[in-house]
Amino acid sequence: MESSARILIVGAGVVGCSTAYHLARAGITDVLVVDQGPLFGTGGSSSHAPGLVFQTNASQLLTQLATYTVERFSAAELDGRPCFHQVGGIEVATTRQRWDDLRRKRGLAASWGVPAELIGPREVADRFPQLDPERIHGGLHVPTDGIAKPVRAAAAMARDAEARGVRFLGDTEVIGFDITGGRVRSVRTTGGEIAVDSVLCCAGVWGPKIGALAGVSIPVQPVAHQYAVTGPVPGLGAADGPEVGLPLLRHQDASMYFRQIHDRLGVGSYQHRVMPVRAADLPPTAPPGRGAEAPSGGGAWKGMASVQPFTPQDFKQPWDDACELLPGLRRAEIAEGMNGLMLFTADGMPVLGPSREVANFWVAEAVWITHSAGVGRAMAEWIADGEPGIDLRAADLRRFEEFAHSSAYVTERAAQSFREVYDVIHPQQPPARPRPLRTGPFHERQEQLGAVFLEANGWERPHWYRSNEPLVRGREIVSPGPWAGRYFDPVVAAEHQAARERVAMFDMTSLARAEVSGRGALDLLQRLTTNQLDREPGYVTYTLMLAHTGGIRADITVARLSETEFQVGCNGPRDIAWLRRHADETTSVRDITGGTCCIGLWGPRARDVLAPLADEDVSHEGFRFFRAKRLHVGEVPVTALRLSYVGELGWELYTSAEFGRRLWDLLAAQGAEHGIFPAGRGAFNGMRLEKGYRAWGADMWSEHDPDEAGLAFAVKPDKGDFLGRDALLRRRERPARRRLCCLRIDDGEVLMGAEPVHTETGRDAVGFTTSAGYGHSVGASLAYAWVPAELAEPGARLRVSYFDRRHPATVVADPVFDPDMSRMRR
Ligand SMILES: Cc1cc2nc3c(=O)[nH]c(=O)nc-3n(C[C@H](O)[C@H](O)[C@H](O)COP(=O)(O)OP(=O)(O)OC[C@H]3O[C@@H](n4cnc5c(N)ncnc54)[C@H](O)[C@@H]3O)c2cc1C
Repeated sequence: MESSARILIVGAGVVGCSTAYHLARAGITDVLVVDQGPLFGTGGSSSHAPGLVFQTNASQLLTQLATYTVERFSAAELDGRPCFHQVGGIEVATTRQRWDDLRRKRGLAASWGVPAELIGPREVADRFPQLDPERIHGGLHVPTDGIAKPVRAAAAMARDAEARGVRFLGDTEVIGFDITGGRVRSVRTTGGEIAVDSVLCCAGVWGPKIGALAGVSIPVQPVAHQYAVTGPVPGLGAADGPEVGLPLLRHQDASMYFRQIHDRLGVGSYQHRVMPVRAADLPPTAPPGRGAEAPSGGGAWKGMASVQPFTPQDFKQPWDDACELLPGLRRAEIAEGMNGLMLFTADGMPVLGPSREVANFWVAEAVWITHSAGVGRAMAEWIADGEPGIDLRAADLRRFEEFAHSSAYVTERAAQSFREVYDVIHPQQPPARPRPLRTGPFHERQEQLGAVFLEANGWERPHWYRSNEPLVRGREIVSPGPWAGRYFDPVVAAEHQAARERVAMFDMTSLARAEVSGRGALDLLQRLTTNQLDREPGYVTYTLMLAHTGGIRADITVARLSETEFQVGCNGPRDIAWLRRHADETTSVRDITGGTCCIGLWGPRARDVLAPLADEDVSHEGFRFFRAKRLHVGEVPVTALRLSYVGELGWELYTSAEFGRRLWDLLAAQGAEHGIFPAGRGAFNGMRLEKGYRAWGADMWSEHDPDEAGLAFAVKPDKGDFLGRDALLRRRERPARRRLCCLRIDDGEVLMGAEPVHTETGRDAVGFTTSAGYGHSVGASLAYAWVPAELAEPGARLRVSYFDRRHPATVVADPVFDPDMSRMRR
């Protein structure tokens, strides 16, 4: 029995094996992979999954992970047998709404670099002859999609890793961890105890159980998903013919998918009721049929602990739907089926990275086979280099705040993710439940004013206010089309324009913020950020946190309130976790988001409203731009920062939650004579876009450096060393390859974001849009976009595809609104 390992991986499914392979390739070979089942048909989800790999996803990250998986598996083989059948994939539309979605998806594929084409019903039937072309509007064909052989791929990667020194141990269950000083010291298994430097949990549906043994919360939910295999289907092929020649087929209007298995079809359905399973109730047992390569049918899944008995009553309607699309199925029957277990999460994304609770306990959970090699590579890079090679912000375990670890939340939201897995979801669509979850002190007032709420990270956020309907009168308003304008109302545009004429109150409570204080606070912030923060108390600084690679990990706003006290406006809980991780005992990092609230008081009349209420001088000379002051607004103690994301004169006014309503009422009453009104996120987003303020996560992320993103002004390399400085300086030695630029869409079409950008004549995309919308003050449709540096110069003419139509666009100087900042500095 092994006695020690640098890294112990729990689980030899496709994710564990892929990570071990990539660690070995990175030179980390003192790795032990332990599985309770036999190697490599362990009885986990990888052992029974049919292996469909559809790459295109609204999430760029998931698409990146999938394209790498295709690349990796295509290059792999086991004893001369392939690990990937590149038969292509077709998603069909039986409704108009789905067809529109496929047109958008074609754009997403182009944006993320996946070759894809829309094809007509006849062409779909030519490729998949069992299909009735009368039933469909057409399909999206991705020639590089295909069928993965998960167990074979796992075994092939394991063999390669073994050759480099990695060890694999089957039939050995992990039963506990010895943890002291917040670190796992050793792992207890049925075969003995193993001393470790770190642990990676790739235990699939057993993940929460393994996490619980270490005191780590892994917010995932095992649910059953139905998959059946038919008997022979007339005309499909021979029982001893090739396993698969037909493309994979997705019929998302019925939440179904299909794949060929010799003369049969594998049929999957997400149409049924949600069938959650408690991870704690899962048996740990190894399957019978030990170690066999799991087939895509053929009954070898029976008895696997990750498989539950098939419930035929849940498959009745899906089978009828399948027969309607593929009429030949009427002459076949369902030979066997299962309710297989897999994981769902609150937002449909994987759960990756170091845990909050135990420093050396890592997690790679809720990963589909489609993304498994990509995840394995990213995890190996993260463990080996301290940083994954691609931006994992959307999959980082630390994106979840405390509430999102509750079983109530995880169960509810994972069930919703299951129901919506194949639905057409609008990027702004708020979850139906649980709501309202997080409300600030202004909520009651906002409801009284007829706020229309959307949701972000549990927070209720007014998008616009019915009370502002009179503002629409007499204005010329451009409305986006049905998709980009799903949550648009003319009031959004009216709030936007009126805020530039008068003054508005924006609820900024949901923006994450932390108090960083103590003897070491300045040093911590100086070490982690790019701008000079060693300034007198009272200064506010926009600065960046870089990754080791020199990419932008976050942008933050730091207000120095005293020698040892800073208020930091962040992008979310990951940033606060990052600050905490680097803080020593001389510094305290406290998340103050929930206990405080914020009103952005912005507009040309903002000073007229604030001055009579404030007990400090708020004149331009007395309270300058990018400065902070503690003052009272009436009785309310407020930290006021003179800055604005919307490009107008004004302040962010912070107070503790119990004073929030009083602050709101005082400003509303005082502002009445100046025409004050509450404005929502819709107006905020449009104003921000016009002003060119980048939103981290939407416009730039860790793959981009400050120069490319137009944020070089926030970097002061001469201030001394900071994380990412050297890497950034090295990047500066080479000319930038791409840049973030502002596009004006010349025909006025309003976009949504993530659309592909082309040259005037080129076929393939050269870039993609990020934030997009209508500038209701400047009267132009705008989009930010990543394009090759040589195309990012003002005046360059490009094209943007939206619903598969190309719209002319021109690169314009950025920002398009108030470039000399005169409105904010008066
Ligand atoms: C019916 C069905 C169809 C699917 N179809 C597809 C598809 O077509 N395409 C796709 O991309 N995805 C599909 N999936 C999802 C996919 O199967 C999973 O997401 C993926 O296999 C998860 O891989 P994994 O390595 O994380 O987990 P697993 O393969 O489950 O591996 C986890 C391993 O951890 C081991 N383990 C657990 N606890 C312990 C312990 N205490 N000690 C030691 N070892 C332990 C288990 O034995 C297991 O081998 C499907 C899922 C189902 C249920």
